[in-house]
Amino acid sequence: MFLKIAVAFPLDILDYLPPPNVEITTEHFGCRVRVPFRTTETIGLLMGISNETNVPLEKIKSALELIDEKPLISKKDLALIEWTANYYHCVIGWTVQTILPNVLFQKTELPDYKTPKIIPAQEIALNLNKAQQQAVETIEESFNKFKPFLLEGVTGSGKTEVYLQLIDKIIKIGKQALVLVPEINLTPQTVERFQKRFDVPISTIHSNIAKIKRLNAWQMAKDGVAKIVIGTRSAVWTPMLNLGLIIVDEEHDSSYKQQSGLLYSARDIAIRRAQLHDIPVILGTATPSFESIYNTQQNKYQLVSLPKRAGVAKPPSFRIIDMKQYQGFEQLSPPLRQAIAQRLDKKEQILIYLNRRGFSPSLMCYACGWIAMCFRCSARLTVHAETSLLHCHHCGSKQKLPQHCPSCQSAQIKPVGFGTERIEQALEKHFPHARILRIDSDSTRKKNAMTGFLEQIHNGKVDILVGTQMLAKGHHFPKVTLVGVINADGGLFSADFRATERLAQGLIQVAGRAGREEANGEVIVQTHHPDHPLLVMLLKKGYRKFSELALDERKSVGLPPYQFMGLLRAECKTQSELQSFLQQARSLAEQLTDFPIQIFGPINAPLAKRAQLFRGQLLLQATHRKLLHTFLEHWLLQLPNKIHWTLDIDPLDFN
Ligand code: ADP
Ligand code: ZN
Ligand code: ZN
Repeated sequence: MFLKIAVAFPLDILDYLPPPNVEITTEHFGCRVRVPFRTTETIGLLMGISNETNVPLEKIKSALELIDEKPLISKKDLALIEWTANYYHCVIGWTVQTILPNVLFQKTELPDYKTPKIIPAQEIALNLNKAQQQAVETIEESFNKFKPFLLEGVTGSGKTEVYLQLIDKIIKIGKQALVLVPEINLTPQTVERFQKRFDVPISTIHSNIAKIKRLNAWQMAKDGVAKIVIGTRSAVWTPMLNLGLIIVDEEHDSSYKQQSGLLYSARDIAIRRAQLHDIPVILGTATPSFESIYNTQQNKYQLVSLPKRAGVAKPPSFRIIDMKQYQGFEQLSPPLRQAIAQRLDKKEQILIYLNRRGFSPSLMCYACGWIAMCFRCSARLTVHAETSLLHCHHCGSKQKLPQHCPSCQSAQIKPVGFGTERIEQALEKHFPHARILRIDSDSTRKKNAMTGFLEQIHNGKVDILVGTQMLAKGHHFPKVTLVGVINADGGLFSADFRATERLAQGLIQVAGRAGREEANGEVIVQTHHPDHPLLVMLLKKGYRKFSELALDERKSVGLPPYQFMGLLRAECKTQSELQSFLQQARSLAEQLTDFPIQIFGPINAPLAKRAQLFRGQLLLQATHRKLLHTFLEHWLLQLPNKIHWTLDIDPLDFN
């Protein structure tokens, strides 16, 4: 009998003989095993046993020790690991290394943890409105089987209340709930709301907590002590003794997709995990991803709607401002200025949204046309006034802000375009008495900065908030009644086919911050293209109608979710080596004539050079998922490893 062991190295499953005098059975799957490895030893995870091996018998060594008495990972979750490795076409070793706490592979002894003191609940369940009631009942009917639900509810419709009441029911039948959120640091209120409602141990799992605390939270979940696990992307892997329900809040959010290393989508993993555990999974959002809408149309997911805001709040009204009429107003059109002034008079809060940090996205010489570029990337440098530096947002390099043009020595160098710092400055000039707070990844860099800012906002110490999408995500700002969108044009004409979807989601999400209590909310959207059909559809008819129109477009040109993509990215020090590799990859793909897939490229990545490396891509597309994956299995075996490449399955962005 051979042990099939995953080690935390980029290797496939390794075969070992059982440790001397130890009987290994299927009950040990998911336990750790100490094994000889290379010239030393390591710790691995027992994935399975088999009577077969491809390794010559004389090369197979005996394992040294069975470490755990009880499995750390259940059989269902071992199956999830295997599925992940297969689906994302990466080796098992790399998968377990990515998704399990590193210390499992470093130390045999795991630390003890104290069961946390239980704080009595301070809040009671709200009386559900009709739609909420129906949502809870519908989902509860499927508590004991696999079923994905798309809970589509406008912002403020009370999705969180639905989650809370379902979780209450799940806990009462002795099970655990896993709740995924896009970002925990940005929305500490969410976790607070859970803590106030329940008097059970809750584990929070995200990358910003100390390693040991995180491990303890993981152990509590595994042992069934924590009844609720709340966490970001990586929490989807948390082992749970008695998992009964998975919730993916803001399922459309792109932070669920890991952008380096193992490029998994936590939302998709959540679905697969629910299937393996035979439990329901809820995808909640006001702005569903097109994939999820499509899946409801295909009857793969059941749609559950909360069409109205809970409580007294009404939906905000939209106003489109044609910026062609207002050149040279520092991106603050007169109608927007007026609206701001009115809200200031009424002592209401205002949120100004611009998804670009820094002072200005480029620095230009008006005498010769020189533009400040990063010397390591094919990208413009962003002006940061606060630090008086030019930053590269791609490689992180920084330079002093020049006083003269390096090319013609002219002093006529000026920032072009607007970032949050510059809008903040313009607002300060026009509203000198207003208290203005800027929130973006620069201003919130310090630990706990966001918590302090949120306190200021909730205590009414801020009049105008200026910020990036950090402000759009899931916050509840009761005093905000006006949202100003500085520039809605960014996504309208992008080469990325998902740009309009993201633009619409961002707009609707940020608009959802307006008028969440009694006062009516207003959203002012500035654009140079007030007649753009998608924009008009979105603002006049709403996100659903917009998505139907946009999905039709995707269908007619054969894009996801109607087709399936894999993106090969390669990086290399020289352009010629890069091109020859991608060209070779293409010919190898063309030779696999059994698989009718489409091949696009090689092309340069939109960011053609980053940190001194040239970057190129090859896009593979197929009409069926299965076809794409069988093709990839054959093709990847043949791809040379002479330069660094990665494969992105279901890519979300094309950078
Ligand atoms: P969402 O998660 O959909 O954005 P929330 O659950 O945060 O919505 O609810 C928005 C607001 O409405 C919150 O202040 C919440 O307390 C309130 N609310 C939710 N459900 C109800 C209800 N049934 N009755 C009264 N108020 C509710
Ligand atoms: Zn110049
Ligand atoms: Zn750079």
